[in-house]
Amino acid sequence: MIETDNINQYLMEQRARLIMLLRGMGIRDKSALAAIEHTPREAFVPAALRQHAYDNVSLPIRYGQTISQPFIVALMTAHLSLTGKERVLEIGTGSGYQAAVLSHISRRVYTIERIRPLLVEADRLFKQLKITNVTSRLADGRFGWPEAAPFDRIIVTCGASEIPLHLLEQIKDDGIMIIPVDGDSGEQKLKKITWNAGRSEAVIKDIIDVRFVPLLSDIDNGDG
Ligand code: SAH
Repeated sequence: MIETDNINQYLMEQRARLIMLLRGMGIRDKSALAAIEHTPREAFVPAALRQHAYDNVSLPIRYGQTISQPFIVALMTAHLSLTGKERVLEIGTGSGYQAAVLSHISRRVYTIERIRPLLVEADRLFKQLKITNVTSRLADGRFGWPEAAPFDRIIVTCGASEIPLHLLEQIKDDGIMIIPVDGDSGEQKLKKITWNAGRSEAVIKDIIDVRFVPLLSDIDNGDG
């Protein structure tokens, strides 16, 4: 019991330190920082890596996937400019951490994962943490979620070779999509796409170079 108390105390201190570090790295968006402060990242990382839950690094989860670096989670969340009223679509549930962060500052989060066991585990965590405004599905996220579209915001947490057309079609006017897209020389650029009113054009801006696991096609039941 004392052991558990000590590790919890340590993790709480580490979480507070991480928030200060993110501020120092230029993350100003108060709601993004608050959402990270209220999300226990240790629940989403493998038990053996718990003591590293608040290191500012990406960590491996199962099936060769990763939970993103906190700075990138904060940056992507901040660029979504959430007020709490938005319906957000996430492609790449992974551990569920980014969806949990978004759940605190969105009306509803729709999240799609292609690897079944990851989705099952993420759903279990949402329940355990009493997060009730996240809806998930097992599917190929490149097609978006037509029945729930259009979305105020779309966030893609795996690297695409190009911007998926179906996703572009599922953003509302004045909506925002944040997505890592492969560049010409092996790099990956985090892009922010905004539809201007009337949808006459999508404005695309590069934010920063990133390294996400690839956006793949089809579902994987995890039994192969
Ligand atoms: N947001 C996650 C990071 C996940 S890593 C987190 O916070 O932990 C990226 C995830 O995208 C992986 O779990 C991978 O299986 C998933 N993915 C890759 N291609 C996909 C696709 N076409 N549709 C849905 N999910 C996909």
